[in-house]
Amino acid sequence: TPAASYVGRFAPSPSGPLHDGSLVAAMASYLDARAHNGQWLVRIEDIDTPRVAPGADRIILGQLQALGMHWDAAPVWQSARLPHYQAVFESLKTHGQVYGCGCTRAEIGHSAYPGTCKQGVPPGREIRAWRWRVPAGMVYFEDRWMGPRQQDVAREVGDFIIRRADGLFAYQFVVVIDDILQGITDVVRGADLLDSTPRQHLLMRQLAGRPPRMLHVPLVMDENGNKLSKQNHASALDTLQPLRSLRHAWQHLGMPELPHAASIDAFWQNATAQWAAKLNISQRA
Ligand code: GLU
Repeated sequence: TPAASYVGRFAPSPSGPLHDGSLVAAMASYLDARAHNGQWLVRIEDIDTPRVAPGADRIILGQLQALGMHWDAAPVWQSARLPHYQAVFESLKTHGQVYGCGCTRAEIGHSAYPGTCKQGVPPGREIRAWRWRVPAGMVYFEDRWMGPRQQDVAREVGDFIIRRADGLFAYQFVVVIDDILQGITDVVRGADLLDSTPRQHLLMRQLAGRPPRMLHVPLVMDENGNKLSKQNHASALDTLQPLRSLRHAWQHLGMPELPHAASIDAFWQNATAQWAAKLNISQRA
């Protein structure tokens, strides 16, 4: 079968129910898939088990359904794909593309990793995490919302962690494997992940994947200018008033006012047409 021309995804971390902020990302990815007559997949990113709230996955899926957002294939859970991540990790290890690192977070701070353990862990230290050897050079991509971006990952980030000190695979690693496996052609998500994109594209090329097109939508901020997030106690969505929640998210995207919608389906129809117009997407199948 030929590769699909548009496969998008929404990839929530089940650390709690969807809130105003996460709905904006979900809405953007859903609209973009619909505007392209593409497929929209849902992936539950439950790799970071300490942050998983039991039952949040089911709540999120229920919220999406209540808001009229229908996925085109059964949702997948990262926790069901561990053997696959393990296999990719072992293969990178066999080829010397990852190395064990004994540094603590306190030793590195927030600057780029200086490569302390690149030639081996210093005597007396134990391997804590595993880092990927980042190739030198500038990474470029064109974001469909934010415009052209570039980053020298080797210099600005350094070799980054793909397996954490607690043994869990890192988000940056599994997200790339999943996007390749699911044949994702388009990533639409919140702008908090803009900085992660060059890392992910580099890793994707290493794993013989083709980097997807990218679109990052502006984040929803609270009154204090902080990202609205579960950690900031954003309030859960009101799925009893779905049209109200949808209109709210639509406004956060900075989109022009929509005609009054009598139903959820009508909302999505209007919104999809507007989205296509704003992003210059041809609506012909
Ligand atoms: N699971 C991530 C989050 O909820 C999103 C990952 C992605 O879209 O690449 O922030």
